[in-house]
Amino acid sequence: MSECIFCRIAAGRAAARIVLEDEAAVVFHDLHPQAPVHLLVIPRRHVVSVAEGTTEDRELFGHLLLLAARAARLTGVADSGFRIVTNCGANAGQSVFHLHLHVLGGRAMRWPPG
Ligand code: 5GP
Ligand code: ZN
Repeated sequence: MSECIFCRIAAGRAAARIVLEDEAAVVFHDLHPQAPVHLLVIPRRHVVSVAEGTTEDRELFGHLLLLAARAARLTGVADSGFRIVTNCGANAGQSVFHLHLHVLGGRAMRWPPG
């Protein structure tokens, strides 16, 4: 089976504009940004989505949220506000089936989302 694109980015086998990384996760700029700042936070380990998470993922999922907040600070959108989104499955519009948090900032967001 071919490796998914986010596994390839996490392993350094595909290019990405990386903002920060550690042993468990990588944060990089989205290829098609939907806001002035649009980051993706991914675990290095292949997890399909939050929906597939188990209690064993408790620490990892918490870690991803903290990294999202840290990346928002690093990219200068923390004070003005930002949104964290994770799409799970077809109706949510998930297109890459490797868990990722979108971090969107730098403009006002609407609610409810489309
Ligand atoms: P989803 O639709 O699954 O919630 O989000 C997938 C996101 O990944 C999209 O915003 C899309 O622009 C981004 N994306 C897809 N392929 C790549 C890639 O190869 N590199 C980067 N940096 N972003 C990607
Ligand atoms: Zn993957």
